[in-house]
Amino acid sequence: MPDESERMLVSRIEEGTVIDHIPDWRANTVSRVLRMDKLARMQADVSVAILQNVTSKSFGRKDIVKIDKWHVDEKDADILCLVFPNITVNYIDEGKVSKYEPKVPDTIEGRIRCPELNCISNTEREPVLPRFNTLKKERLLQCHYCDALLAFDSVPEYVRT
Ligand SMILES: [Zn+2]
Repeated sequence: MPDESERMLVSRIEEGTVIDHIPDWRANTVSRVLRMDKLARMQADVSVAILQNVTSKSFGRKDIVKIDKWHVDEKDADILCLVFPNITVNYIDEGKVSKYEPKVPDTIEGRIRCPELNCISNTEREPVLPRFNTLKKERLLQCHYCDALLAFDSVPEYVRT
């Protein structure tokens, strides 16, 4: 149950996305994974509020990212949950909140670079979209082409820009 102050923070957005239960002081990693710098260039009317070190009943402290007038792609939310398994994602439409439960996908295509520089997905000539299979128990991504492994926790460093 969100407490009163949390509900206030969420309810002010009429259209957009609220990403909650981010570990404290990690909101910048969320911005990075969601490529918000790119977003800023594309959609001038989007505004983002980043709340850091907010008190939370179940978490102690947490960060919250509120994005006004932009719906985070569900696939990007799923990538976020590789790094932050406890995040919750709320989409807001005309003031109504609907929860999206991010899940670790079986495969990820196009969004993350392979850590192996010689991988075919990293070559300039004849580029193929990077593709990974997830090894959920080991918390690893495995490149479909070269079998290189990437820890879930390292994903933010390999997000394609
Ligand atoms: Zn590879």
